[in-house]
Amino acid sequence: MNLLAEKAREQVARAGVKMAQAGLVVGTWGNVSCRVSRENLVVITPSGMAYDSLQPRDIVVVSLDGEIVEGERKPSTELELHIWIYRARTDVQAVMHTHSVFASAMAVARQPIPPLVEDIAQIVGGQVPVAEYAPAGSRQLARNVVAALGRRNAVLLSSHGMVGVGSSLDEAFNVCQVVEKAAQIYLWAGLAGKPAVLSEKEVAELHYNYLRFYGQNKGGGERK
Ligand code: 13P
Ligand code: ZN
Repeated sequence: MNLLAEKAREQVARAGVKMAQAGLVVGTWGNVSCRVSRENLVVITPSGMAYDSLQPRDIVVVSLDGEIVEGERKPSTELELHIWIYRARTDVQAVMHTHSVFASAMAVARQPIPPLVEDIAQIVGGQVPVAEYAPAGSRQLARNVVAALGRRNAVLLSSHGMVGVGSSLDEAFNVCQVVEKAAQIYLWAGLAGKPAVLSEKEVAELHYNYLRFYGQNKGGGERK
C-alpha cells in the first residue's frame, strides 16, 4: 500500500479518537474519513468499532467509486455520504459525521443553526442548513446531505446528527466542535432573549478573512 494512504489511515484513526474524546459521539457511532488526493482514494473508519482501540489497519481504503482497495474491515455504513461529498466538493479533504447533543437537538427540531457568533460564521460560511430526513446509511441520505450542504462546511441531518467538512482532518474536527458550541449558544441565548444573528455581509467578510488570512500558512493581501 502506498505511503500517503498509510499515513492517512493513522491520521483518521487518531481523528476518530479525538472525536470520541471530545464527546461528539457516544459508543461506536459517527465516522471519519479523509481524501488521499494524489491517489484518488478515500480512507474511512470501519463500521461499528470502538474508537479507543482503533488501529490504522482497521481503517478502510476505498476508491472514489466506493471499491475497497485495502483493509479487512467493513467500511462505515455512511461510505456513500462521504464519497458523494468528495465528488461534489473538490475543496473538501476531510469529512466528520457526529451525533453531538446540541447539534442533534437542532436536527430533531429541523431548524438551521444561524450564524450568531464569529467562529461559526468564519469556519462554516453561513447558517448550518438541515438536510431532509432519510434513514442512516441510505443512498437518499447521501443525496440529501450533498444537496443541503452546498458550499457550506456543515450540515444537520434531520433526526440524526451533523456532518462537518474541511480542508484537513483538523479543520473538519474544528467545524464539528464549533457547530456544537453554536447550537448550545443559540439555545441558551433564546432563554435570555432574542438571539441576534450576524448579517449576510458580516458573515461573508468573516468567512473571506478566515479563508485568506486566519492561521499561519495563508497569504497576505487586503482584509475585507
Ligand atoms: P458506522 O459505525 O457504520 O460508521 O455508522 C455510524 C453512524 O453514525 C451511522 O449514521
Ligand atoms: Zn450517524
